[in-house]
Amino acid sequence: MIKYQLKCECGKEFESWFSCSKEFDRLEKKNLLSCICGVSKKISKQIMSPQVVSSKKETNDNQQKKIFQNVQKKLTELRKYVEKNAEYVGDNFASEVRSIHYDKKNVRNIYGKTSLEEHKELIEEGIEINSIPWVDKTDS
Ligand SMILES: [Zn+2]
Repeated sequence: MIKYQLKCECGKEFESWFSCSKEFDRLEKKNLLSCICGVSKKISKQIMSPQVVSSKKETNDNQQKKIFQNVQKKLTELRKYVEKNAEYVGDNFASEVRSIHYDKKNVRNIYGKTSLEEHKELIEEGIEINSIPWVDKTDS
């Protein structure tokens, strides 16, 4: 459906819906367009910004929701994997990761928290770390 702003010769403006742009042309040719003034049949299109009505927006919302849920699920799996395969060192992450990197002592997988500053420093020191979005557990 396309909505056109129409203007009658009498000066009245009104909106009307058409199934397509061709329908307007068809009705115009046949003088089937009419204004409420009932006098003039000279109706013209005002603006060429058709508004298309469809259920697409809703579909997009649903799709986004699905994608989000999917990502959430994957991140939950990732979190579980990390928790299973690495040792949590909490706020000591930066110092722990350095001792592993420099002293090669107690080499293991660890995970924990860093500040943005620490994260930058570790990267600059050439220490390979990965940031992952940490999601709340939603086991339900
Ligand atoms: Zn009119």
